[in-house]
Amino acid sequence: MDENINELISDLRTYLEYLKGMGITTLPVADHVPEKAPPSEALTLADVKKELGDCKRCKLHRTRKTIVFGEGNEGARLMFIGEGPGYDEDVQGRPFVGRAGQLLTKIIESINLSREEVYIANIIKCRPPQNRNPEPDEIESCNPFLMKQIRVIQPGIICALGTFSAQTLLKTDTKITALRGKLYELEGIKVIPTYHPAFLLRNPERKREVWEDMKKIEELLRSP
Ligand code: SF4
Repeated sequence: MDENINELISDLRTYLEYLKGMGITTLPVADHVPEKAPPSEALTLADVKKELGDCKRCKLHRTRKTIVFGEGNEGARLMFIGEGPGYDEDVQGRPFVGRAGQLLTKIIESINLSREEVYIANIIKCRPPQNRNPEPDEIESCNPFLMKQIRVIQPGIICALGTFSAQTLLKTDTKITALRGKLYELEGIKVIPTYHPAFLLRNPERKREVWEDMKKIEELLRSP
């Protein structure tokens, strides 16, 4: 290595003496050294949350108590996306914590995972008054943040819970009964829609179909 450096210095000296011989005694030096571009750092969920801030991008901010951003593992292989916060979620600021949430926890555990291992979010982050359905302008305002969360987490599979989640993610108006249990794709991520746990509480006879959908998800998670 030393030898190489000595050789370089010797070459440089010869070159400078050559320039001197040509009458060139000064060398131009750039008066502005361009700054190195900062390394492109990957976006994190904290960045997305910061950008969302105290969001007032749609009318739901007027009636919500808390923004329910989503929670779970930032590196989750499986992501659940529901419709929107209900009363308990609005109070606690966490997704799926009411009765439907307890059922979702059981559904997750049925495929030997825990809530901490997956990521749980909703199509909209603020509770609609009286739990009414989210309106198109609200979904449109909120969706970019969910998409950023999905891009940060890059799960292998998204389980879309219920009509609004499946229809929004898959940009379709096909009914959940026709969508459920089938495999779709969103930005290279597998999407399997199934019934929303709140629907299962009202229609317990449909639980079997959800267990079937979860088995498919479990198999997909096992495959490389
Ligand atoms: S629902 Fe989404 S877009 Fe609307 S105020 Fe809440 S966080 Fe903002």
